[in-house]
Amino acid sequence: MGFELSMKDYASYMVKAYTKIHENKEYITDLDLATGDGDHWANMDMGFGKISENIKNIEAMSLSEGMKEIGKTMMSVIGGSSGVLYGSAYLAAAKTLKEVELLDRESLYEVLKAMLEAIMSRGQAKAGYKTMIDSLYPAVKAYEEALRENDDDKTLCEKVKKAAIDGANETAKMEAVKGRATYQADKGVGHLDPGAVTMSYQLVCLMEAVEEKL
Ligand code: ADP
Ligand code: MG
Repeated sequence: MGFELSMKDYASYMVKAYTKIHENKEYITDLDLATGDGDHWANMDMGFGKISENIKNIEAMSLSEGMKEIGKTMMSVIGGSSGVLYGSAYLAAAKTLKEVELLDRESLYEVLKAMLEAIMSRGQAKAGYKTMIDSLYPAVKAYEEALRENDDDKTLCEKVKKAAIDGANETAKMEAVKGRATYQADKGVGHLDPGAVTMSYQLVCLMEAVEEKL
């Protein structure tokens, strides 16, 4: 039992996530126009686009080197808060993978947890602040629960996807505490947080990449 993802598999997931983000230009831009400055889609599209252009190099790297390369690209290419946050997340993930050749159920969990911790510490934000954390945090918790309950991989993937999507949807009810949405009179209430939605896209694509291995 158990899946294994190589850097090549992870790279192909990144390209799929890029496609998903790329296809949702209007939707994500409109979400960020409602609560922020409207550039979230352009930022993410640029970062994932650059990574996709460089994918042949990245897929030949070790997991740790590949994640580091992704992090450095995100840091330098994505403008705005999300560049720094995703950059830190990938650099933290790279550190957990020094001795790891293939991502399995446990090491993928360690990666997602390290990303969550890096984003929370870099942005000084927590769950409930109406940010990307509101998709990633429940997804990591769902992953943890699936490990604890010894769920099979298919169930684990379903739980993580559902938690990521439900978490992003929950942001509609939240008042922003950090980031640009705090400048709005309504603190963004009634609107989904764009960063939580793009985070849920990534988590769903990632779990689909795992499912392809089952
Ligand atoms: P900017 O807000 O600088 O224009 P983006 O538009 O690319 O950057 O990203 C906005 C998204 O970043 C928000 O929707 C939110 O999810 C996320 N975000 C902003 N500030 C933080 C923070 N301190 N912690 C976590 N996520 C944040
Ligand atoms: Mg923005």
